[in-house]
Amino acid sequence: MDLKDLKDYLQEKTAIQVSLKGNIFGGLSEDQVEMIAQKVARLRIKDPWKGPLSEKTLEGEVAYEQERINDREWKLFGILYEGVLYQELLRDFILEGKLNDRNCTILLTNQLIATRDQDDLRYHIRTSLYGFPHILSIPGFVSAPAKPREFYVKRQMGIPVQILKEEYKGRFLDHGDSRTTEVLKGYVMQALFFQLTGDPFCEDQDCRLFNSHWQEEMLHAQLDGKYEFCPRHEAILDKIKS
Ligand SMILES: [Zn+2]
Repeated sequence: MDLKDLKDYLQEKTAIQVSLKGNIFGGLSEDQVEMIAQKVARLRIKDPWKGPLSEKTLEGEVAYEQERINDREWKLFGILYEGVLYQELLRDFILEGKLNDRNCTILLTNQLIATRDQDDLRYHIRTSLYGFPHILSIPGFVSAPAKPREFYVKRQMGIPVQILKEEYKGRFLDHGDSRTTEVLKGYVMQALFFQLTGDPFCEDQDCRLFNSHWQEEMLHAQLDGKYEFCPRHEAILDKIKS
């Protein structure tokens, strides 16, 4: 992920001043880290039907969170957190007093977040959660949008994932994928549009604001759409810029 590239892109597209603030956990006291770790540990989703807070937090889980917060290079993923509550926690305890509607605060995380779907009432992994602050989950871009349908069919037939990954290479984003920064550009723009207009999405599959549910849709909209933004959104961007 190239944050400098992301920053330059946003600035160029919008003429809004962008600054990289670094790790939000940096500068917390030991007591604060412990308090945050306690709270984050309670946001784990162990059952996608039930959500978090249903079970007692184990001591080991709190210790894990504490270690994770203290280690900037921590890269493990796999644990799922309740997105809306995670957002609330960041707002109330870490970014307290730093958020306002004159600034668009976008947090990139290497954690997986999930929110409950209104239709099937089950928790689903998300790429992004817009609000205060906006959250973009890097592993979410790998896990949330669906891979080609045949991928799952073949996996059920028992073909090993490694072989399938090779067969479908390029058609979905993988961990450490060199296209990640390019994909993120569209999503930071979605966050900005959410904040400015209340609507982060577009119906146009070629527009970077398209709300993709499939990996191939996401890669198309972000990497090889007809244009970067549809005429309607391009016009809004022009207005923002001027
Ligand atoms: Zn559009």
